Amino acid sequence: MGVSHEPLVDSFGRTVRDLRISVTDRCNFRCTYCMPAEGMQWLPRSEVLTFEEIERLARLFVERFGVDGIRLTGGEPTVRAHLPVLVGKLATIRLPDGRRPDLALTTNGSALRHLAHELRDAGLARVNISLDTLRRDRFLQMTRRDELDRVLDGIEAAKEAGFAPVKLNTVVQRGVNDDEIVDLARFGREAGVEVRFIEFMPLDADGHWHPEAVVGQDEIVAAIAAEFALRPVAARGAAPADSWEYVDGRGTVGVIPSVTKPFCGDCDRVRLTAEGQFRTCLFATSEHDLLSLLRNGADDEAIAAEIRRAVGGKWAGHQINQVSFVRPRRTMSQIGG
Ligand code: SAM
Ligand code: SF4
Repeated sequence: MGVSHEPLVDSFGRTVRDLRISVTDRCNFRCTYCMPAEGMQWLPRSEVLTFEEIERLARLFVERFGVDGIRLTGGEPTVRAHLPVLVGKLATIRLPDGRRPDLALTTNGSALRHLAHELRDAGLARVNISLDTLRRDRFLQMTRRDELDRVLDGIEAAKEAGFAPVKLNTVVQRGVNDDEIVDLARFGREAGVEVRFIEFMPLDADGHWHPEAVVGQDEIVAAIAAEFALRPVAARGAAPADSWEYVDGRGTVGVIPSVTKPFCGDCDRVRLTAEGQFRTCLFATSEHDLLSLLRNGADDEAIAAEIRRAVGGKWAGHQINQVSFVRPRRTMSQIGG
């Protein structure tokens, strides 16, 4: 309401431009690098942000702080009932200069055959789909669900609905799926989708992560380049992925080197968990309780002040590679990847 744009800048001079919102902690998969096989304790529904609460916070970030990217994630965002209704609400938000923020979704893809068109019609701009293997038996091992065909069909459905580009997220783990790097890159080339390989991070519920399980960016790129000639695409800025293009013009491939080449110095993102806890880093060990503020009747000024305070205290970066590293209490699915 006539409020001018006040960028959210942290004490290291980084401006927040990207908000990741987890819409649920629940999931229909149980990926081994993310969740345990059994025993996840779900949040009671009353503690999960309502669509109206999510919209109110998103408006504050976009209209007041000029955040121009919103990504919905989880858990699995498509298991939240009526997700297109939320997308529809968020799609009405505009930046102070009238632009639409970029509205994106990260999903395991299993529900896209049913939802892709509806999400697109509601105003979703982009979709990233997770796919770690093309082998059915391995898919079952890695996700503990026999749903490879549904995910592949979901990728097709996303393309048919007009999402462009469709990107795939692939977490690479040594001894698990590192022998499929080239196959997955080939799949991306042939399907006309950009594969982004992600280094395995210490956010798995089972606590099996260890440094040797990480396949680093250099190794991933070398494996692909041995099969398809690549050349680097100009620097990534605040985007987490480094990109290469195929010299023959068949698209691009990315790597997110969170472990071997952390990009914290350029980080422009913040996160909101499903229960309204604000986090300034994936690996943060403290959170700011926006849910309580919302439900205790705080006005926008008070909520904005809390957000500013949190961002002011954002740390320089995670220290996965150092002995001082402390794993966050939450797993990836509980934070919102
Ligand atoms: N359920 C959706 C999905 O799988 O795309 C969205 C949430 S998921 C937590 C977001 C992303 O985090 C996915 O691409 C997933 O592969 C990635 N992820 C989960 N655990 C990870 C880990 N330990 N290291 C690296 N990436 C991870
Ligand atoms: Fe679910 Fe995504 Fe975690 Fe897999 S990575 S268990 S699909 S939240």
